[in-house]
Amino acid sequence: LRRTSVQDLLRSTDLDREVLVKGWVRTRRGNKYVQFIAVNDGSGFNSIQVVANAEQFPEEKLKADGVDNGAAVAVRGKLVASQGKGQSVEIQAEEITVYGTADQDAYPLQKKGHTLEFLRGIAHLRPRTNTFGAVLRIRHAMSFAVHKYFNDHGYFYIHTPIITGSDAEGAGQMFRVTTLSDTKPPLDEAGAVDYSQDFFGKATNLTVSGQLEGEVAAMALGKVYTFGPTFRAENSNTARHLAEFWMIEPEVAFFDLQDNMDLAEDFLKSLVRYALEHCPDDLQFLNDHYDKELLNRLQFVVENDFKRLTYTEAVEILKGAKQKFEFPVDWGTDLQSEHERYLVEKHFKKPVILTNYPKDIKAFYMKLDEDGRTVRAMDVLFPGIGEIIGGSQREDDLQKLQQRMQEMHVPEEDLWWYLDTRRFGSAPHAGFGLGFERLILFITGMANIRDVIPFPRFPKSAEF
Ligand code: ATP
Ligand code: MG
Ligand code: MG
Ligand code: MG
Repeated sequence: LRRTSVQDLLRSTDLDREVLVKGWVRTRRGNKYVQFIAVNDGSGFNSIQVVANAEQFPEEKLKADGVDNGAAVAVRGKLVASQGKGQSVEIQAEEITVYGTADQDAYPLQKKGHTLEFLRGIAHLRPRTNTFGAVLRIRHAMSFAVHKYFNDHGYFYIHTPIITGSDAEGAGQMFRVTTLSDTKPPLDEAGAVDYSQDFFGKATNLTVSGQLEGEVAAMALGKVYTFGPTFRAENSNTARHLAEFWMIEPEVAFFDLQDNMDLAEDFLKSLVRYALEHCPDDLQFLNDHYDKELLNRLQFVVENDFKRLTYTEAVEILKGAKQKFEFPVDWGTDLQSEHERYLVEKHFKKPVILTNYPKDIKAFYMKLDEDGRTVRAMDVLFPGIGEIIGGSQREDDLQKLQQRMQEMHVPEEDLWWYLDTRRFGSAPHAGFGLGFERLILFITGMANIRDVIPFPRFPKSAEF
């Protein structure tokens, strides 16, 4: 008898046949005549109900065998129509095998709901909860949808390096790569470890963005994207930042800022649509338990155009706002998440794309506007999140790019290979970075970024 997944059984119309499921007990309840055991194998949100008749499975025996919350079991029995409401089929148990028990006094996951904060402390067990099962399945679906979207649109997936010599963002938020070996690392005059020698004689960091390498690939393959781990030495202990996150970065040759905005909007809408179509059970649960507006909000994003305006226009709106902000807004300063959320949630009440930021608050590679003060940047702002995407048309003129690098103290010798893309066959191009966890935050309605990645990395993260 071959094992069937719980989700396949729940969808099955082929009844009164012998089936075998393997999974974990979520609950056991009942009386002295009959016991109901909910078994979940992770294949989907819903568990299957196993009905155990007291004649064959007295409660004391089930208890003694450890058929309890958290135990791993195999159940063989007959798939039948269910009398109870909430499910169409159930299994009439004939044989229950216990693989591994979970001592009810020691098992941290009890029947009562746990706070997300408590679960963060047991990140290795939380995938077993309804909430994290739902989040992780949605995360998987979104990851697949990202690749599907790009593949369907003729993009090539490029693997950019994780260890790199460059700081693409120029923000200095890098983790340095060091070597652990029995040869002691070299020390400088002050006696401190000289990390400049540490990667086979070179200084290297964990990547903060795959963009520069993505541009290299776009100049040959036309339409490319990266989707990989990204590291930033973020000191900010916010609910929107992780030290290790995943970023999706398309880069397209012969694209300008308009094309880039169109791509970002279409891409985001298509991802949300995919979630609505493919994750209904998980989304419904999150909607009912955490955020009653979740499904409405997702639907709204799919159906409505994003508002597009310039940074300068946004600053005017923010200056005229009645709301008191913690940080003042002035032309030339970067917007804070409170400003971004005001524009999205209070003013326009829809996703917003802000463009043409002052050059001084953006990275060196963005294309200078004609006025010489702003660049062809775009940030996509989402409700409940603030910035979800940062992107731009890139500077494709060698001289202007060199000029910007000088102004921003980006050493040319580090990026000679990048400058070659402008030296040989340079072309207009554009791209953006979508923070994958911020997307998952939006789609799941979770409030803290630490709750949408299996093992969050942040300044005080758990040891595993
Ligand atoms: P923020 O202003 O929120 O710090 P950023 O402008 O520094 O973001 P970018 O360099 O534009 O970020 O990176 C592109 C995208 O990557 C962001 O729009 C965001 O979705 C995501 N992102 C950036 N930093 C983080 C982080 N520390 N944790 C999770 N996602 C991040
Ligand atoms: Mg940042
Ligand atoms: Mg930003
Ligand atoms: Mg940004």
